[in-house]
Amino acid sequence: MKITEILQDAQKTLFSFEILPPLKGESIQTLFNDIEPLMEFKPAFIDVTYHREEYVYKDRGNGLLEKIATRKRPGTVGMCAAIMNRYGVEAVPHLICGGFTKEETENALIDLNFLGIESILALRGDPIKSEPSFTPDPKGHKYSTELIQQIIAMNQGKYMDESLENSDPTNFCVGVAGYPEKHYESPNLVEDIKYLKKKIDAGAGYIVTQMFFDNQKYFDFVKICREEGINVPIIPGLKPLTVLSQLTALPRFFHIDIPEDLVKAVSNAKSKDEIKQIGINWCIQQSKELINFGVPCLHYYSMSKSVAVKEIAKAVF
Ligand code: FAD
Repeated sequence: MKITEILQDAQKTLFSFEILPPLKGESIQTLFNDIEPLMEFKPAFIDVTYHREEYVYKDRGNGLLEKIATRKRPGTVGMCAAIMNRYGVEAVPHLICGGFTKEETENALIDLNFLGIESILALRGDPIKSEPSFTPDPKGHKYSTELIQQIIAMNQGKYMDESLENSDPTNFCVGVAGYPEKHYESPNLVEDIKYLKKKIDAGAGYIVTQMFFDNQKYFDFVKICREEGINVPIIPGLKPLTVLSQLTALPRFFHIDIPEDLVKAVSNAKSKDEIKQIGINWCIQQSKELINFGVPCLHYYSMSKSVAVKEIAKAVF
């Protein structure tokens, strides 16, 4: 079932979460161990992130370093199939522009279609760690809008090989990313939302937001989106802050603010356990307020650490 259909049918706020594929070399059991504690809350869907290659330098022992491209977390598509097979829950793979030619994207979409995957979160992807800014593959897409256009074209039976006749149309539902505190490259929120509107106009059916710790940011974001004519469901993404280092790491990686009250509480905490509990309680309060606001679904960034998300889900669902 497509995510848009699941949201449409929902009688109350749904629960969903995002996981990362295990590190290369780890077994799929690592993933199941992470998912299992959350199954009792009947997730409406599970997102699986996509991780592009990174460059590592290997010392060749002769004073030379060899630059090698490696993907540390492969397996997104296989994991989605495994989740659907084992739990009967919709799995949503993330698909990115970075590192893909258009033809590779097409082939990936064919795989997803054959596996019975019906929804995709279409993203541009971040720059490779060693690059200052995002560089698309010369034969790939520069913005997520272009990726969405390719998916929608395949939904109309249009493949890259124009000589193909009567091609079987796919039937994907497409989700996209939204940023209540704006995307870091965008000059301002309104400008960013203009491009978000282009993603919806291109055919995306729902939005999942970047994490935020201040619900007012989400409320304001939804208001501007609606004023700009974006009428699709906007699913809030939430992450519990659980360790002290995240006070600086989360703003650095995700370009978000952490409210002063939360910073103070975490900074004054006497132990690691206290910090974790403060973060969990904060996320519970956020979740409850968002449910009262009438959000269609609460989407948790479990980041392969399901214990905190389980505690939150227990208090909220
Ligand atoms: P885009 O929509 O392409 O936007 C990128 C920037 O360009 C924005 O500033 C936008 O305003 C601007 N822009 C858009 N279109 C145009 C245009 N036509 N002309 C000029 N400017 C334009 N990354 C991963 O690598 N793997 C993942 O699995 C992953 N999952 C994510 C899940 C969620 C819910 C979110 C919020 C982010 C995720 N990311 C992931 C991170 C994401 O890839 C980065 O935030 C990336 O920098 C932007 O992706 P996007 O799809 O929002 O880009």
